[in-house]
Amino acid sequence: METLVPLKEIADAIKLNGGVTADLCYQCGTCDVVCPWNRVSRFSMRKIVRQAALGLTEIESEDIWRCTTCGTCPQRCPRGVNQIELGRSLRRIATEYGVFPDSVTPIVTVAGSLMSEGNPFDLARGKRAEWAQGLGVRQFKEGMEILYLPGCYLAYDPRMKKVAVATAKILNAAGVDYGILGDKESCCGESIRKAGNEEAFRHLAKSNIKNLIEAGVKKILVSSPHCYHTYKNEYPEFGVHFEIVHISQYLKQLMQEGRLQPKQEYVRKITYHDPCYLGRHNGVFDAPREVLNKVLGTELNELAERRENSFCCGGGGGRIWMETPKEERFSDVRLRQAVDLGAEVLVTACPYCITNFTDSSLRLDQGQAIEVKDITEVVAESL
Ligand code: SF4
Ligand code: SF4
Repeated sequence: METLVPLKEIADAIKLNGGVTADLCYQCGTCDVVCPWNRVSRFSMRKIVRQAALGLTEIESEDIWRCTTCGTCPQRCPRGVNQIELGRSLRRIATEYGVFPDSVTPIVTVAGSLMSEGNPFDLARGKRAEWAQGLGVRQFKEGMEILYLPGCYLAYDPRMKKVAVATAKILNAAGVDYGILGDKESCCGESIRKAGNEEAFRHLAKSNIKNLIEAGVKKILVSSPHCYHTYKNEYPEFGVHFEIVHISQYLKQLMQEGRLQPKQEYVRKITYHDPCYLGRHNGVFDAPREVLNKVLGTELNELAERRENSFCCGGGGGRIWMETPKEERFSDVRLRQAVDLGAEVLVTACPYCITNFTDSSLRLDQGQAIEVKDITEVVAESL
């Protein structure tokens, strides 16, 4: 009986941190069947849920860091277990104890950079708006139509800066009255929260909310589905409600209003990948397709695993910052699917997806046959 006390304490700590639904599990194994990890290796969310309910979780295990929070198993679980919240709870406990397996240690540096510079790259806050130089992008002022928050990857990553530039060119072409916050924008905090660092998330959220309120912001345009999810669904926890629009939705709106008209058809064969946090988590499936169909002048060629069944790129849940062995990368599986479909361009709408697919396209032999682009780049090319 003596050992039951610490086990109960651990089980209680897991529940206290958000893992309360673990008790509902009846071990059907559906989560393991649908999980993308079991397409590239072996992983059991069912086992993690069981161990958590019993207080038997091995906090030092690499397995608690594997879930990419893709959202597939919570949608399919017949018992309403929230595996993502449970995983976050386990990672919070591991973070509190400072226990990180080798593949996860980059998170420590990322968290430090987020706290000091507001971005995960350990780059100076003052460089955040460098991407916008020479594009006529203004500082946001109260009364402007919309605030554009490019997010960390588009502001700093050399590949993703091209997407920020394409976005600015489109907004300029459509005559949108918009501005940016520049060095007053910090990371939204979505991924570091999923990686268990609640303190960093709250620090970032409060800093962003303060600056948004001071600037008089009401409507926000974002490029990252992770920013979209956080500003829309998680910042209301702090009592604020901004209107959040993802660029795919805004492109559709600008086209419907006649402010944005593709001038030339896109002649290459494209397919579209639904990012987990735009599609499965937030139900935005149609807007990007309507935009791409308009640019193509025809229906786009669809992947078999699409919309609610889209296959994760592997970058969510903080995995974008962790080490994943080459043979276990989801993005390789997805890129091969696009190549097999005969697509010349794999289009998506998320900086993590683009980063992972670009990496796969550069490493895989089949990758030479396909380009990876953001939806804004395709639209900008059609103007
Ligand atoms: S799908 Fe739900 S009920 Fe079934 S094993 Fe997974 S967590 Fe348990
Ligand atoms: S959310 Fe996705 S990655 Fe995480 S365990 Fe469920 S199916 Fe696997």
